[in-house]
Amino acid sequence: MNGEKLIKIIEAIAKKIHENKQLLTDLDAAIGDGDHGINLDRGFKAVVEKLPTVADKDLGTILKTIGMSLVSSVGGASGPLFGTAFMKAGMVTVGKEELTNEDIIKVFEAAIEGIQMRGKAVKGEKTMLDALIPAVDALKEKIAQDADIKDALIAAEKVAKEGVEYTKTIIATKGRASYLGERSIGHQDAGATSIACIFEAINESIK
Ligand code: ADP
Ligand code: MG
Repeated sequence: MNGEKLIKIIEAIAKKIHENKQLLTDLDAAIGDGDHGINLDRGFKAVVEKLPTVADKDLGTILKTIGMSLVSSVGGASGPLFGTAFMKAGMVTVGKEELTNEDIIKVFEAAIEGIQMRGKAVKGEKTMLDALIPAVDALKEKIAQDADIKDALIAAEKVAKEGVEYTKTIIATKGRASYLGERSIGHQDAGATSIACIFEAINESIK
């Protein structure tokens, strides 16, 4: 993984979020305020505009720039949460031009840490973490078994999608959906769905 590939991946994520903008917004409308797709689409558009300015920089700089542009362009919970995830990922890749599989795991772990630092949520609260944490666990498990990174990321996508399904079964205890209490059951979480979209985009991009 190098800067050029990372930029391709980010562009693929931006495209995927754009294609799913309405779905993400509708999911958020059911149990939140109906802006999640609009928020992320705006954020990743700002990111894509910024990418040319850091294309020749190290991966840490690229990831940090992505994070800062998400934080500054997205209102709502998801901007700071996704933004911090990318900024933290940038901190563990400072000065790197290439990422090993171990580095990729560190990037995802740092992302989770950033989201938890900001949002104080744990698994089982019907948030993006219900897709991301199990997906990263699956990624780590596959890499530990010496799987190819592509296969490991495919496994992560599958688990992220299972995480999305799981969010339908639980009560939201963080974010706007938590105001609904039991009435949040039966609805899938928008942020978890974004995470699944992100893994899907990563895999399509590196195929
Ligand atoms: P807002 O809730 O401010 O309208 P968005 O609609 O963009 O922001 O994002 C909502 C998503 O953010 C939720 O679907 C959920 O996945 C995620 N989320 C909300 N609060 C938290 C939190 N504390 N930790 C992790 N994710 C959260
Ligand atoms: Mg919202």
